[in-house]
Amino acid sequence: MTHIDLQTILNEIAHEVETFYGKGSVADYIPALAKVPARQFGMSVSLLNGQEYAVGDADVPFSIQSISKVFTLVMAFREKGDEVWNRVGREPSGTPFNSLTQLETTGGYPRNPFINAGAHVVSDMLMDFLPNPRQSLLEFVRMLTLNDVIDYDQEVAESERIHGDRNRALAYYMKSFGNIHHEVDQLLDVYFHQCALSMSCRDLSRSLLFLANHGIVPHSGEQILSESRSKRLASLMLTCGLYDEAGEFAFRVGLPGKSGVGGGIVGIIPGLLSVAVWSPELDVSGNSVLAMEALERFTTKLGISVF
Ligand code: GLU
Repeated sequence: MTHIDLQTILNEIAHEVETFYGKGSVADYIPALAKVPARQFGMSVSLLNGQEYAVGDADVPFSIQSISKVFTLVMAFREKGDEVWNRVGREPSGTPFNSLTQLETTGGYPRNPFINAGAHVVSDMLMDFLPNPRQSLLEFVRMLTLNDVIDYDQEVAESERIHGDRNRALAYYMKSFGNIHHEVDQLLDVYFHQCALSMSCRDLSRSLLFLANHGIVPHSGEQILSESRSKRLASLMLTCGLYDEAGEFAFRVGLPGKSGVGGGIVGIIPGLLSVAVWSPELDVSGNSVLAMEALERFTTKLGISVF
């Protein structure tokens, strides 16, 4: 893959997806996200050999929202290993990201770590062994990206807190089954901040490169996850990473991925690259319309997927 090829592909994609503006709507469940200008598109690709390619608004920081669930799961999985699965499952949910319904039949055991309920349990686990999970998460993503200015967007975090009753309900409900161990307010302070992590496409594609590299951070050689755990993380992204559109994403894109309602979607091609795309308008499942289109074109034009 030469420099020209990949940059040309990104430029073509950026041009082609422009026709999809207006086909979705910006997240409006909190005012801080509802005011984000819709017509923005960025895409960044990081290769294992250190090369990076970007187009459009790839350096504009945005609210990564649910993409943070990958980072917190990595941190918990790294520390607790398979104990994680005693408290959260590994099956696609087929329900919206903030759904309560399945928790009744499963006795407070969330279907997977990438829906809100599962992410609460994961953040609760971080509180078991980290004195300050918010700070540790920040240090973790700064280390992965080599970008020390990555920070929380406090306005988004506050907006999440003010409008966070559904998340409170989820956490208290799971606590009633004994699957949340810490104080709900403290837990949700971690969760609302992780959702409010502000990162660009370039930060995101860099940060997830270790998952394309058998768990090893390319720039430092540090093993974040074992090869087997890295593969497991990627499998979960493939089956559960796109809310109840994981099947559609696998069908159209064919990569392990994770989306967030801020409009970002990340994907990895193991052994080769990581990619991040951002555009704020969402489809009915909460996934970015333009990012889905862009990633479908990306794997089609490259002729590479995990299948
Ligand atoms: N912050 C959102 C919430 O907890 C979810 C984030 C997302 O799914 O991207 O309701």
